[in-house]
Amino acid sequence: MKVRTIIAGNWKMNLTPAEAVELADSIRSSVDKMPDVVDILLCPSAVSLSSVNNCLTGSRVKLGAQNMHAEESGAFTGENSPSMLEAVGCEFVILGHSERRHVFNESDLFINRKVQTAINHQLKPILCVGETEEERNQNLTLNVIERQIKLGLLNLKEDDLLPLVIAYEPVWAIGTGKTATPELAQQVHAEIRSLMSRLYPGNGGSVPILYGGSVKPGNAESLLSERDINGALVGGASLKADSFLSIIRAGHLTKNA
Ligand code: PEP
Repeated sequence: MKVRTIIAGNWKMNLTPAEAVELADSIRSSVDKMPDVVDILLCPSAVSLSSVNNCLTGSRVKLGAQNMHAEESGAFTGENSPSMLEAVGCEFVILGHSERRHVFNESDLFINRKVQTAINHQLKPILCVGETEEERNQNLTLNVIERQIKLGLLNLKEDDLLPLVIAYEPVWAIGTGKTATPELAQQVHAEIRSLMSRLYPGNGGSVPILYGGSVKPGNAESLLSERDINGALVGGASLKADSFLSIIRAGHLTKNA
């Protein structure tokens, strides 16, 4: 089965709403002239979601949030609920990003609650997984990823997987300029694909698996040429229209067949 390609920009804690709209506008005006073979997704900060959503009206560029709380409402100062994200036009939500895991100490089970909530709300979760440099040096990469996926997807049934996206983001490659080689990334992606097929023989094999970690115009084509890399989650290089568009073009080029 052909797995859909997704190129997503994670703008992290950057850009004011006005700057976010300016960037979204220049990305949408180019993307809307391209053939619709790759899904393009922008994930601005929560305060910019509403204005970026307005800017994307009528465009095929999609909107995602960078995080979400697992509860519907309540005393969770500073958090955003699934209904709030839906109300400002989000179709996707990034969950378990390594910065949430390592800077904000989010556990696999907390992330699992968010994944379940997102699915109950028709939000498409992008579950991020990845090993630290220390874990890689200790040969623990596959153990870590297997744990993050099994716990992150706890209690999910085959049908729950339809909106799911997985992003493999080795922590040592995020924002560091160090990228996994295409061969190394492909190896882990193939392991994730095989784990997903074992866990969910019906739909597990067709969950899109994105690569993230210092993806740039110079390495996007070689990474995206790999069979099990179904797209990219891009941080730094998504903050400039030129570099993000060049990664999007690499996606069109490699996945157009
Ligand atoms: C990310 O934020 O998910 C990411 C991969 O960042 P960068 O591309 O800057 O490494």
